[in-house]
Amino acid sequence: MQALVYHGPGAKQWESKPDPKLERPTDAVVRIETATICGTDLHILKGDVPSCAEGRTLGHEAIGTVVETGDAVENVRPGDRVLVSCISACGRCTYCREGMYGQCQSGGGWILGHLVDGTQAELARIPFADNSLYPMPEGLSDEQVLFLSDILPTGYEVGVRNGNVRPGDVVAVVGAGPVGLAAMLTARLYGPSRIVAIDQADSRLEKARSEFGADVAVNNAAEDPVEAVMELTGGLGADVAVEAVGVPATFELCTDLVRPGGRVANVGVHGHPATLHLERLWIRNVTITTGLVDTYSTPTLLRLVAEGRLDPSPFATHRFAMDEILDAYQVFADAAKTNALKMVLTSS
Ligand code: NAD
Ligand code: ZN
Repeated sequence: MQALVYHGPGAKQWESKPDPKLERPTDAVVRIETATICGTDLHILKGDVPSCAEGRTLGHEAIGTVVETGDAVENVRPGDRVLVSCISACGRCTYCREGMYGQCQSGGGWILGHLVDGTQAELARIPFADNSLYPMPEGLSDEQVLFLSDILPTGYEVGVRNGNVRPGDVVAVVGAGPVGLAAMLTARLYGPSRIVAIDQADSRLEKARSEFGADVAVNNAAEDPVEAVMELTGGLGADVAVEAVGVPATFELCTDLVRPGGRVANVGVHGHPATLHLERLWIRNVTITTGLVDTYSTPTLLRLVAEGRLDPSPFATHRFAMDEILDAYQVFADAAKTNALKMVLTSS
């Protein structure tokens, strides 16, 4: 088969590789039909994820058809069309039984395209298939469902649910990339009074307003976002501030945006320490949450898409054949110029 293989920082190739085989009775092999690229794949390619070994097939988001299942797999059968979750889960360890699949102790968690070969390929072995694959609902297109592999559950669980968004809340989302936009889209499910998108790129802010439900856009390179949010809220601050960038400055900004009694939900992946201004925060009853996506919400999100309550298809901005994946990476990495959100790669 052909696969997109990581060859160390800055190096990747679309090349041939042996077909994956069942290795454990809980595995399935899936023929990948639609896949996409994540910002995390770019992090790996920069060398920011040293746990990802050279020779690894990248990718942790896809839709495909099951071709083979191990003896212990019961929920899917060969021929089933399935959504592949970015999180693999044994379903039996202490953390899985608490719904914290991202922390699976049995070798699950975020492993696809990281610790085991991933989904940017013609075929992929999916460990713990029973808890890591979801049958595709009838009548939905791949583009409506694909982004439920990762960014929708991430924005929803780690941003909106951890942030405890409630009806009437003012929700500020710092970072309007795919993850921040997913937080805005799913925050709407809770009837906030205002969603404020904060980013330094006007093209992203424009998308946030026109397609992802933001009511107000603030370019924090051009205006002071704290002043803007204070003005919008009569000096109170945001009820919930979602950090969806992953740098110290935006985390610290979130703690300045939030009102007393409010919540800061950190979603961004941080590579450097951020300052926690406890000397200002201690008196303000602020809650700060962190998290890796668990994908416990995937069935709920699938139902919302199937019922027409949630439409993630605007994330699809560019389409390529699977064997044009190197071009797709280029467009995706150049998002500032190309206005890219998510690439849709389809096999022929
Ligand atoms: P992205 O790089 O596509 O988007 C980030 C956005 O932040 C861009 O629009 C950029 O213009 C904006 N930005 C950069 N610096 C800024 C600043 N100083 N102020 C305001 N805006 C700024 O990233 P993404 O794919 O949307 O992911 C967002 C974050 O979520 C990343 O850190 C990613 O690693 C993380 N993530 C976390 C999880 C999790 O489980 N917690 C899962 C997936 C992704
Ligand atoms: Zn587990």
